[in-house]
Amino acid sequence: MIPISRLPLPAELDQRMTPLTEQIRVTEEGDRAKKARALWRRPATRATVGEPLRGLLRRMAPGVERCMYCGDNLGTDIDHYEPLARDPLRTFDWLNHLLACSHCNSHHKRDLFPVDERGLPMLIDPTAEDPFDHLLLSLSVGEYAALSEKGRLTIEVCGLNRADLARGRQQAYRVVTLCLREWGRELRDRGPCRPEALVRTIREQPFADVCQAMLRQVEMPGAETVFADLPDVAAVLRDPQVRDTLTLKVVTPY
Ligand SMILES: [Zn+2]
Repeated sequence: MIPISRLPLPAELDQRMTPLTEQIRVTEEGDRAKKARALWRRPATRATVGEPLRGLLRRMAPGVERCMYCGDNLGTDIDHYEPLARDPLRTFDWLNHLLACSHCNSHHKRDLFPVDERGLPMLIDPTAEDPFDHLLLSLSVGEYAALSEKGRLTIEVCGLNRADLARGRQQAYRVVTLCLREWGRELRDRGPCRPEALVRTIREQPFADVCQAMLRQVEMPGAETVFADLPDVAAVLRDPQVRDTLTLKVVTPY
């Protein structure tokens, strides 16, 4: 999971969603989830609201339109971060929409939404907070360890340590390492540079979380141990231009 910057919602789309929320609001409380689901699935809503939303989310998604949870599969579904069964009034709330693959959406997250004793979410929203505040990726193994209870619950709910994802992250680690090594050679030979083909290869890799974890871990205590076999790669990861080009942050439009 990586930090994702949310794009602003175009005014016309906002204007199409407001009356839909109003229709849910005037529905009797016990029937709101059913009403919300019916409105969301209506072909007219899909065409005028669902498709433009999906388009926006695809532009925000990591790599080539990857799932915002696993970072591996193509993001095909609009996921309600807070499930509409829990809060139907957030069905058409732009800040509640993420892009997920059908596997994460249907087999893992589903309607799960852990909260703390105050009712605050205990699931990372990658568009509102930096996932790396809660998660530490073991680069060699490809699995996450939790840095907080929210991290632990996110790993569990989203199945972030499933075996296929761990293997994919190991592979991504090798690819990003090769690209950075090549970038390091160019830095030595040509001086400051930003080789577009390498940047694109790194950015369009599935598992964008691997490169983001490398950029963070090289600046953390213990970096010498993590990158003991890769001192040349660690040097590239510390280069200000490389960091500036590759580091992702959460930027919110509101
Ligand atoms: Zn996924």
